[in-house]
Amino acid sequence: NLGRKRLGVALVGLGYYSRDLLAPALQMTKHCYLAGIVTGSPEKIPQWQKNYRIADYNVYNYDNMHQLANNPDIDVVYVVTPTGTHKKFTEIAANAGKHVWCEKPMAMNEQECQDMIDVCKKNKVQLTIGYRMQHEPNTQRIMQFAKQKPYGDIKTIIAEAGYNGTGASYSWRADPALGGGAMYDMGVYPLNAARYTAGEEPIAVTATMNSTTEVYKNVDETTRFELEFTSGARAVCATSYAQSMNQLRAECAKGWYELKPFQSYSGVKGSTSDGIILPAAPENQQARQMDNDALAIINNSRVLVPGEEGMKDIVIVEAIFKAAKEAKRIVL
Ligand code: NDP
Repeated sequence: NLGRKRLGVALVGLGYYSRDLLAPALQMTKHCYLAGIVTGSPEKIPQWQKNYRIADYNVYNYDNMHQLANNPDIDVVYVVTPTGTHKKFTEIAANAGKHVWCEKPMAMNEQECQDMIDVCKKNKVQLTIGYRMQHEPNTQRIMQFAKQKPYGDIKTIIAEAGYNGTGASYSWRADPALGGGAMYDMGVYPLNAARYTAGEEPIAVTATMNSTTEVYKNVDETTRFELEFTSGARAVCATSYAQSMNQLRAECAKGWYELKPFQSYSGVKGSTSDGIILPAAPENQQARQMDNDALAIINNSRVLVPGEEGMKDIVIVEAIFKAAKEAKRIVL
């Protein structure tokens, strides 16, 4: 019974998100703690060991991480590497008998997602995708509105997430093979939001993509896409590495509601047409997410964001690329 202790988490990939967000959040969690690291950069190890008192025997690299199988300190492996590597590290972790938390977007295509789901099922470990918004209280209110329809039928959803990264230097985010480009990296926020705001799955998609700067010449720098739902609702979405945007809005038969910003690390807040204010929640988002996910393991209960949810977005992402390439409406 794992309930006797806090779960030990090993972070795989000590880049920006692990260093600046997840490791600090793991100092605030109640049901899990930072127990180990997996890194391809030996020079990062001393600082991490010092900051978080990580024992030598809980430090791994990409070649020996399968040996996690023999380490009872580690219950969960959190994959925080470029998207194109998520499947590979998920398979190693699951085959080592560890539960897997994997960052969004889940993987590059439907087949990779299915393989990740299958390997976790085979090893009887949980798989959860790091969609932190689905753990955020105001976002959960929006998900409730989708069920209860307090403002009548949802007509139009506007979902946009982007930032100006045109001054950034070259990284995997500019490499299509590793999951670079705005659509995979940022676009899954408006896509996931459109789905949870509608409370139904899209039936067709149209899209346009473009790139204007040298650094993002091989990937989509800005993508605009529209989703059609069975109910007749429509989602008008955008994502970009060249332009800052951060809003989610539902226009309904009898009013509207919105979150602005809707996907920031803190300060997600909203309002409605009848004057309800959804104030920003004070809790650390990542701590809340990891505690929820740790409890699902401890209680052996259903995870909030399973692999199947991550895969639904990736199927649509693939259709968005096809729609943009062929300049036509793709039926899902
Ligand atoms: P970074 O580039 O900052 O870090 C990625 C790390 O992955 C690297 O530092 C490296 O760690 C490791 N890595 C392993 N293989 C490779 C490779 N082939 N090329 C480059 N790095 C590699 O990226 P981020 O931390 O910003 O993003 C990582 C993941 O987290 C992505 O999937 C991204 O979408 C997601 N993310 C999620 C966010 C959220 O809000 N949920 C926010 C930001 C990112 P090492 O040197 O230790 O080996």
